[in-house]
Amino acid sequence: MKILIVEDEPKTGKYLQQGLTESGFITNLATNGNDGLYHALSNEYDLLILDVMLPELNGWQILETLRKNKNETPVIFLTARDQVEDRVKGLELGADDYLIKPFSFSELLARIRSILKRGHFASPESTNLVIADLQLDLLRRRVSRSGKNITLTAKEFSLLELFMRRQGEVLSRALIASQVWDMNFDSDTNVIDVSVRRLRNKIDVDFEPKLIQTIRGMGYVLELPEEI
Ligand code: CA
Repeated sequence: MKILIVEDEPKTGKYLQQGLTESGFITNLATNGNDGLYHALSNEYDLLILDVMLPELNGWQILETLRKNKNETPVIFLTARDQVEDRVKGLELGADDYLIKPFSFSELLARIRSILKRGHFASPESTNLVIADLQLDLLRRRVSRSGKNITLTAKEFSLLELFMRRQGEVLSRALIASQVWDMNFDSDTNVIDVSVRRLRNKIDVDFEPKLIQTIRGMGYVLELPEEI
């Protein structure tokens, strides 16, 4: 599996390249937009990791040019924190996923594996996450259950997005803290329980079946309850 990393920040680029190589990937690193585009067009990659802010050409321009050239290589964007519009733009241009800096390497690996496993590329569905009658539309940032619109705060939305992207997977409070709050495990995990409760009040209390399950001593999982 061959991955192209386009990242101008030397430390991050090196860190990514080293980690991915150690995880068994063949990697190339480009440090500006022009080189990145050149590599992406002249080699066959299984995946591209594109920083958004790059010298010469930015990550969006690279992706746009690739898609115009019928190059459908999956793309993960690395975006600055809280740039919601960036993420929307990336997904609209046909990115498969995005990670907000700073991110953990294990999270990046998980996203890479899920994209490579999927084996197909961005489709309109990939911006629309669904479980049972619950829908989350990443582009319009809308959530509905049973056709009823549900208003969530930004944090609740991020939390639900995490649950929906990784449905069926037990998420520890530590993981939720690091993904949604950028906090460490030793921070106050009560914040997470309170937020999960609020989210449940909005998406589960008035509906059946209940989708957010508590796994005692471990965390939470979003899934359909097993039929009895
Ligand atoms: Ca950059």
